[in-house]
Amino acid sequence: MSDFRVKTKARAQFVDITDEVNRAVAAQQITTGLCNLFVPHTTCAVIVSENWDADVTTDMLAHLQRLVPRDGGYRHGEGNSQAHILSVMLGTSINIPLEGAKLKLGKWQGVMLAEFDGPRERTVLVSVVAAQRTGSK
Ligand code: ZN
Repeated sequence: MSDFRVKTKARAQFVDITDEVNRAVAAQQITTGLCNLFVPHTTCAVIVSENWDADVTTDMLAHLQRLVPRDGGYRHGEGNSQAHILSVMLGTSINIPLEGAKLKLGKWQGVMLAEFDGPRERTVLVSVVAAQRTGSK
């Protein structure tokens, strides 16, 4: 397992971390298997989304904030219930297959850290599980 840090710059923001994840995967020297990403936080998430047209993530962020408003009459005194709810909805962990020691993403896919309570420094944990054939040692 390895990790890297992401400094977010806004309260709510999607940050493309595909290159950082691929670097972390390459350093583990496993060519085929499964990559698990996990963020040990309660107010951000990791997702796979389109990363070519920035309007996609802009629309998604705006829509998520309409679905879960910032001021929703919540009880939590810290004032960031919106961020906690969106973190749970999108999830703090994803799995992506590996091929050739790289993420096997679709042409238009990228890995993003979804920040909902920034700006903060976030940690992304990268665990790679190697694929093995039956009978291999
Ligand atoms: Zn809180």
